[in-house]
Amino acid sequence: MTASPQRRVALSLLAHPDDAEMFCAGTLIRLADAGWEVHIATVASGDCGSMTLPRAEIAAVRRREGIAAAAKISATYHTLDEPDIQVVFDKATNRKAIDLVRRIGPTLLITHPRHDYMLDHEQVHLLARSTAFSYSIPNASDLPLIPGSAIPWLYYCDPVEARDPYSRGLVSPTTFVDVTRQMERKIDMLACHASQRDWLRSHHGMDEYIEAMKRHSAERGRQHGVMYAEAFVQHRGHPFPQNDLLADL
Ligand SMILES: [Zn+2]
Repeated sequence: MTASPQRRVALSLLAHPDDAEMFCAGTLIRLADAGWEVHIATVASGDCGSMTLPRAEIAAVRRREGIAAAAKISATYHTLDEPDIQVVFDKATNRKAIDLVRRIGPTLLITHPRHDYMLDHEQVHLLARSTAFSYSIPNASDLPLIPGSAIPWLYYCDPVEARDPYSRGLVSPTTFVDVTRQMERKIDMLACHASQRDWLRSHHGMDEYIEAMKRHSAERGRQHGVMYAEAFVQHRGHPFPQNDLLADL
């Protein structure tokens, strides 16, 4: 028997504004089109994402960019507003993450893999995994529990360049999602992060920001026999749902 969620609420809980658009926006588009309520959350504010603007200013710019990108698929943007490169899995941040997820009540959660190119991503992996396990435990938060809240289907998106930073080996996914037909809209969402695109464009002399995302999706697409794909590893540890919900959908 194939289990299915009581609530159709998807959350990407990632480190920085633009990570969702890089790694899983095609899948989020497909979920939104299928009638899912979609939330895009970041733990960090993006306050180191500029060579020229001070922290508070660039964080405000990046919050607006995150809201605009999410609005393209009628998703809601959230941030825990932690400082970039200072994301840590500690009691205070864990509590903030649990409270955020408690207010959303997702049944499908996407986060970073255990190993990635920077530690903010790895620390968010820990926060998200802890939150997925615990947010629906009554005493885990003082906030009310939304009916239907449960341990969500949990998926890890690709690390940067789809490669393990230690071995440089290509990560083996459990699940591919064909995003060929969603690619134009994925680009449109990523392009909302103009502050990041512009400095890379001036630095590289080409639109490297968009091109890097397309290269990554095309590499995963080739492995799956389509033009563009996103790849995921499903978390199947006790007591998480075992069936591959993304594949089933
Ligand atoms: Zn990031």
